[in-house]
This record gives sequence, C-alpha cells and structure tokens, in this order.
Amino acid sequence: MLDIQNLCCKVKGTQEEILHNFSLKINDGEVHAIMGPNGAGKSTLSKVIMGHYNYEILSGELLFNSISLKDKEVWERARMGIFLSMQDPTVVSGVTNSEFLKEALSSVTSNRVELFSFIKEMDKMMKELHLDKSMLHRSINEGFSGGEKKKNEVLQLKVLKPKFIILDELDSGLDVDSLSLCALNINQYIKENPDTSILIITHYPRLLQYIKPCYVHILSGGQIVKTGDFSLAEKIEKEGYSSINEIGKNESYE
Ligand code: ADP
Ligand code: MG
Repeated sequence: MLDIQNLCCKVKGTQEEILHNFSLKINDGEVHAIMGPNGAGKSTLSKVIMGHYNYEILSGELLFNSISLKDKEVWERARMGIFLSMQDPTVVSGVTNSEFLKEALSSVTSNRVELFSFIKEMDKMMKELHLDKSMLHRSINEGFSGGEKKKNEVLQLKVLKPKFIILDELDSGLDVDSLSLCALNINQYIKENPDTSILIITHYPRLLQYIKPCYVHILSGGQIVKTGDFSLAEKIEKEGYSSINEIGKNESYE
C-alpha cells in the first residue's frame, strides 16, 4: 500500500534534511510502529505522507498503491484513503465539529451526505467513544481537553473510513481508560476493514499492546536504523534508545 524509497526531505526555507534516504514499505492490512527520540523526524514523516505544505521532498519516491503522492494535494491524498491523526490536533474556531465532519465526509466520498443517517451514525459513534453529544456542536477542538482532542481524531477516522491510518502519538494526552477505548474503536475498525494499514508513531509500548504491530521500527538520523517486533518496543521502554547500537545494521522486514 505505502512504498517509500530513499526519501529525503526538509522543512521549506531551511537547509537541514530531516528524513534522509528514508525507506519503508507497508502492505495491505499491516500495522507498523515507528519509535524514535524527540526530534527524530516522526511527525515530519507523517506530515510528508499527508502532504503538509511546509515540507519539501528533495529526492526519493513516495508511492501509495503504486501512485506517486509527490504532486498530490492534501485533499487528493485524503480521497485516496490516507488519514492522519495529528500529534497536536488543530483548533478551528467558528467551524463546528458536525459541520466539519459532514463536509469532510462529503468531500472524501464525493457524495452528498444524507442528514438523517449522518446524525444517527454520529450519535452511535459518539457513544462508542464516550464523547458527549454537545461536542458535535462546538468549534473543532476549541477548549477540548488533550484526551478529548485525541478522541475527536478517532471520531474523524471512524467517519472518513480511510484505508491507511497514521496515528501520531495518539497516546499522548489520553488517560489509560480513554487510550484503551480509542484502541478498542480502532481495532473494531480494522476488524470490519481488514485491508486497512496503520502506521503508529509512539514513545511507549502500551498502545502497541492494544493495537498489535507486525513490525516496530526505530527512526534515527533520518532513517530506520532497526526493525523488530513488539519486544523491540519493550526493550526501548526498559533500556532507552542508547541500547540500540546496531545503527546501519537494519534487519529486513519485507
Ligand atoms: P519528532 O516527531 O520525531 O519528535 P519532528 O518531525 O517533529 O520530530 O521534528 C524533526 C526535526 O525537524 C526537529 O529538529 C524539529 O525541530 C525540526 N522541525 C520540524 N518542523 C519544523 C519547522 N516548521 N521549522 C523548523 N524546524 C522544524
Ligand atoms: Mg512528533
């Protein structure tokens, strides 16, 4: 589904490459996790895949189902089925959550949204996420707690039904119960849509205990320096990144 080859990219207007010869392949139905120290480039990767205007690809390939994403706008990528749950969800004053979700759904599917069934579905989804119904009528993320913002990202995911999901630190800001509830919702989604692939960016193994990854990668120096399974996440939790000294000796995961 996702095929990234030797990708080099930087923030526009700066010199330094953040991702350098970065390669990653994610097949249909696979869950991959990426861990790495602060500033390693994890959020940069998520934004480059989604097409954030502030990032520039210098070289390399970024393919989604064999189609290059490099010249695709954000909305085109969303239509192709790519979804990013942001590390710091944006506050949008003056646009209510329900207006946004309805418009987003209509844009992504190119269909007019039938109001009655939309409201009914929203009701069900809000309940599944233990979100108060009043949040639908508030401005997007305005005054939301950290946990509510993250649940709101999962709500968007449930509404838009993507094929490829990036979760950038979904676990930050969520209490233990909310984290397991979000994971439950995502796992239910995967069960109903088994071809969905997920890229989980996290610092901690906890989320990976709920949404089980096929592979765990460590990002450092702009590229993946080690790949393993869940036990690699546990090793990082116990021993830190300094325990990873196999830089350059990447194990094959393809
Ligand atoms: P991570 O998510 O792994 O913690 P990021 O991808 O957010 O890391 O950041 C990678 C590096 O890129 C950091 O050194 C960060 O300061 C830099 N960076 C990210 N965005 C910008 C920006 N808009 N302007 C300048 N530097 C940036
Ligand atoms: Mg980040």
